[in-house]
Parts: sequence; C-alpha cells; structure tokens
Amino acid sequence: MAVDRETLEQLVATVRGYVRNRLVPIEAQVAERDEVPPEVLDDFRRMGLFGLSTPVEYGGLGLAASEEIRLILELTWASAAFRSLVGINLGLGSQAILMDGTEEQRRAWLPKIASGEVITSFCLTEPDSGSDSAALRTRAVRDDDAYILNGSKRFITNAPYAGLFLVMARTSPERLPRNAHVSAFLVPADTPGIRLGAKDRKMGQQGAWSCDVHFEDVRVPAHAIIGGREGCGFATAMKSLDRGRINISAVCVGQARRILHEATRYAVDRTQFGQPIGDFQLVQAMLADSKADLYAAECMLDDLARRYDLGERVTLEASCAKLFCSEMVGRIADRVVGNGHADVEDAVAQHAEHVAALDAPPVAFVGGDVDLLLRVQGTVAQGDVADVVDVAVLHPRGVGAADDVDVVLHRQLAQQALHPVGVAGQRGQRVGR
Ligand SMILES: Cc1cc2nc3c(=O)[nH]c(=O)nc-3n(C[C@H](O)[C@H](O)[C@H](O)COP(=O)(O)OP(=O)(O)OC[C@H]3O[C@@H](n4cnc5c(N)ncnc54)[C@H](O)[C@@H]3O)c2cc1C
Repeated sequence: MAVDRETLEQLVATVRGYVRNRLVPIEAQVAERDEVPPEVLDDFRRMGLFGLSTPVEYGGLGLAASEEIRLILELTWASAAFRSLVGINLGLGSQAILMDGTEEQRRAWLPKIASGEVITSFCLTEPDSGSDSAALRTRAVRDDDAYILNGSKRFITNAPYAGLFLVMARTSPERLPRNAHVSAFLVPADTPGIRLGAKDRKMGQQGAWSCDVHFEDVRVPAHAIIGGREGCGFATAMKSLDRGRINISAVCVGQARRILHEATRYAVDRTQFGQPIGDFQLVQAMLADSKADLYAAECMLDDLARRYDLGERVTLEASCAKLFCSEMVGRIADRVVGNGHADVEDAVAQHAEHVAALDAPPVAFVGGDVDLLLRVQGTVAQGDVADVVDVAVLHPRGVGAADDVDVVLHRQLAQQALHPVGVAGQRGQRVGR
C-alpha cells in the first residue's frame, strides 16, 4: 500500500462526499447538456483521481487494485460519465507505459497522466476491425528516425479531451504470429496530421465523449514506440487487460448499488392500493434477487482484487468477474425499469432508470465482449491453459474499451426495443397481483 490506511480512508470519505453533494445533483444537467463541467475535471485533478494507479515515484498515489476499486465504487455512485474522464488514465493510458514503456517514456508521461494534466486515449478499434482488432489497418511506416502513421480509429473514448493518444498500428503488412505485426505508439494530440471526427452521438451516458481519430501522414520520432521495440503492441494491451477488467467490474458494482438504492427508495415512497409498493411480496422478491446478485458480484470483485494484489495470475477470474458483473448490473437494471420507473419525474430516480435502460447494458462490450469471455473461460475449463493466451490474443475484444462504459448505438437498438415491452407488459408481478 503506497498510502497509509488513514489517508486512504480520508480519500474515500472525501470522494464519497464530493460524489453525493456535487456530482449527483448535476447528473441531469450533464445528461441534458452532454458535457461534464470543466470545474469537475479540476476537482478530480485536485483529489488525485487521475493518478490512483500510477506509482508514487511517477507522481501518482500507487494504490493497489483492492484500494483503487474502493474509489471507483464511490465514483460510480454517480453517472458513469464522470468516471469515464479518469478511466483511460487509470487503465491502459498509464499501465501500458508503466509496464512496457522505457524509463524515459515513463518519466516523460506518467507524472502528467497522474496529475491529469494530460488525458490519454487508447486507439485500437477501427471502422473495419472491432472484435478482430489485430486486423487493424492503420500503418506505421519507418522513415529514417521516424514513423509515419496513416489510418482511422473509431469509438475513441475521451479523444476530444486527449493530450496523448496511445495508437496501435501495423508495422508489418502481413499478419504475424501472436500479433507481432502490431506496435504501440505515443502520439501527442497536437502532432500535425491528426484530425478528430464529430463527437459520437449516444443514447445514454451523455457527458462521456468519444469520436473517430484520423491520422494523416502523422510523423512521430522512432523513440515514440512504446518500449522502443516493434511488435510488442498487442502484448502490451493484453497485459493491461486484467486490471482493466477489475476496474470495469467495479464500475458495474458501483452502478448496481446506486440503481438498487433508487429502486428501494421508490418501492418505499410509491404508494398503490393504499400501501407502499414495497409491501407487495413480488416487489420485495425483485429487490431481494437484486441484492443477492449484487452481493455475489461484490464478493467476486473483492476476491479478484485481493488475488491480483497478491500477484496471482487472474486472467480467468478477471474475465469471470467482468462477465458476471456486467450481466448482474443489466439484470438489476432490467428489474428496475420493468418495475415502473419509466414515468417517474424525480431526476435522481430518472438517473436510475437511465442507467438501467441505456448505460448498463453496454458494459458487456467493455473489457471483453461477453461472448469472447465465455470462450476464454471455456478454454480454461477444458484445462488448456496455454490456449487462453491465444484466445485472448486472437480475440482481444474491448481492449480499447476497457476503461469506459458509454453507449454506442448497435446494442441500444435492441435495448430500446426490449424495455418498453417490459414496462408495457407490467411484468409478471403486476399481472399476478
Ligand atoms: C462504450 C465504448 C467505448 C469504447 N472505447 C474505445 C476506446 O477508447 N478505444 C478503442 O480502441 N475502442 C473503443 N471501443 C470499441 C470497442 O473496443 C469495440 O466496440 C469492440 O471491440 C467491439 O467491436 P465492434 O463494435 O466493431 O463489434 P463487432 O466486432 O462488429 O462485433 C459485433 C458482434 O459480433 C460478436 N462477435 C464478433 N466476433 C465474435 C466471435 N469470435 N465469437 C462470438 N461473437 C463474436 C460480438 O460479440 C458482437 O456482439 C469502445 C466501445 C464502446 C461500446
């Protein structure tokens, strides 16, 4: 532990107070204006939130995973749009440089990343390579003591704020074994030839921004390659993924806690047939099921973070937790939306509905799509541990998304179609009463 227990407890209490007194009251405004006020960014910087996972020697707080998740759980009591601002700096943005960067790269970038002076974006996904991200087309061609980058990246979280892009690009035209055709580059956002697309339009979690990033003859010095060697970019991303999945599991738990809190409050306050709806046993059963789901996820998260901090290899456990937690928050959200929140005027209750309907489901994409996590687990269950790495390397779903939870249209179309059915049909408990 890089900070003592008392300091950590103080930080947790400070963040809790800030989230509940400052962030929760502006959730509706942030959603409506699709913008987090710049003062919030400054407050995050002052609280040291950009540097939770960066070691002290590079200007961060150097928290262990089990400590970091306590802050994430506090932060995600409010809309996940707020956490999105710090997400990449805590994850791939710092960890890739820390784990595989040269000492010169660490000293040049980590203090700025930890302080929040520089916001990072991780650029892997492209218009034609998502799940099959190793099929990326962005090229980095060596030219004397430089590389010239050309290509386009898609869904890049925080790109409109970014001061530094971590760009995965192809340094070999052929696809090489273990994806050694991919290298990672540190590209300052003010490098000539970088152009941002329009902000992605989202149906949920407004305030968290992403967009396309285009690289047109972008020239970077040869020493901008992470670790100083070609062919290591994919391995770098994969190494950061376990911690990223711990973090995203914590996001799911934090959001689920808030949803359940709002649902319980509503069940107590809302009166029908002359009594609070929470008196009806079928409503109680939904809350009880949700609490059990949440408790299981909390236990899983604690165990995972503890093992990670002990230095255990947690690839299997991290994918289990990410799978379970993302589906858990979706289940709880589904129960809440189906329980009549749709017509509630109160802004805070609306947040729960919003998270439920729009923000929660896409976490299934983040940090590894559930389909592919199941494949990872299936492979391990068969005892073929070596294949886990292959599966992960061949199908690094969501590597680029490991630190964000905002919304892209494709999955939401399905959600839009499904939730009104749940509400309109009033679900089983209403029909049965
Ligand atoms: C909120 C959000 C933030 C993001 N932020 C970033 C970012 O900062 N940086 C970045 O680089 N990327 C980012 N992404 C992109 C993200 O990594 C990709 O969306 C993800 O890898 C999926 O790619 P795709 O959308 O092209 O889906 P596709 O690859 O087209 O997949 C479509 C569907 O096919 C299924 N599928 C594909 N292959 C298989 C298979 N082998 N087995 C079973 N099913 C399969 C998938 O599960 C999915 O349901 C973000 C995405 C989201 C949603």
